[in-house]
Amino acid sequence: RPIVRLEHVSKTFSNGTIALKDMSLSIRAGEFISLLGPSGCGKSTALRMLAGLGEPSSGSIVWPDGSHVAGDKKGGDIGFVFQEPTLMPWATVFKNVWLPLRLKGISQAEARPRIMEALEMVGLDKFADSYPRELSGGMKMRVSIARALVTRPRILLMDEPFAALDEITRQKLNDDLLRLWEQFGWTIVFVTHSVFESVYLSSRIVVMAARPGRVIDEIEVDAPHPRG
Ligand code: ADP
Ligand code: ADP
Repeated sequence: RPIVRLEHVSKTFSNGTIALKDMSLSIRAGEFISLLGPSGCGKSTALRMLAGLGEPSSGSIVWPDGSHVAGDKKGGDIGFVFQEPTLMPWATVFKNVWLPLRLKGISQAEARPRIMEALEMVGLDKFADSYPRELSGGMKMRVSIARALVTRPRILLMDEPFAALDEITRQKLNDDLLRLWEQFGWTIVFVTHSVFESVYLSSRIVVMAARPGRVIDEIEVDAPHPRG
């Protein structure tokens, strides 16, 4: 059962750049999809449109159960993790993770169990009262993953989340992400330009090419780890 479908989605920016041409993709519950391709092939553009950040120039993005509309005030449907952790430096880890719930009007006290649950998932519950500057790059990325998870999104969108980290930290986070995905059965769309990362992580690889950005292949990965 698809959670969301891109149907013949194209995106041309106002400067004439064709970022994406005729992309169709059906995302099923529990899939770990990688969008794999070189810089400029439209991966981020596709991901941002899935998040409701920008509209297709043609084609459509369909949420079959009608749960999501762009700019949805509920905001519970989608978690987004950017390449940069984008944490508020003046706020504790706890308050950073609270933010998406706070925006929905949920008080700190009411949000506490969910914040602590999200921090526990990423192994940082002991750091709730720390500030971002006290954390390593990998830990900051974990906080931003917790912040994306705290609303219990039905789909987690990740835009080259570990690209800025050193290789050892990156591999560790990849392992943790895989473990969490297997445990909780999340639906993940993961943007990467690393063939290794896409094969290591995903259950399906969507291969893209640039100029214009488009899908050129789709590969179901038959990996040893169990599927969601
Ligand atoms: P739209 O066609 O959606 O109106 P714009 O061309 O107005 O998009 O640009 C929107 C934003 O994207 C601006 O902040 C702009 O600085 C930024 N931007 C412009 N060109 C690029 C590019 N090649 N890559 C990434 N971002 C860009
Ligand atoms: P990727 O994530 O695969 O590197 P992007 O989706 O960021 O690719 O960009 C696809 C193409 O669209 C690139 O040529 C990029 O420069 C262009 N682009 C991205 N955002 C904008 C924008 N806001 N305005 C104009 N061009 C853009």
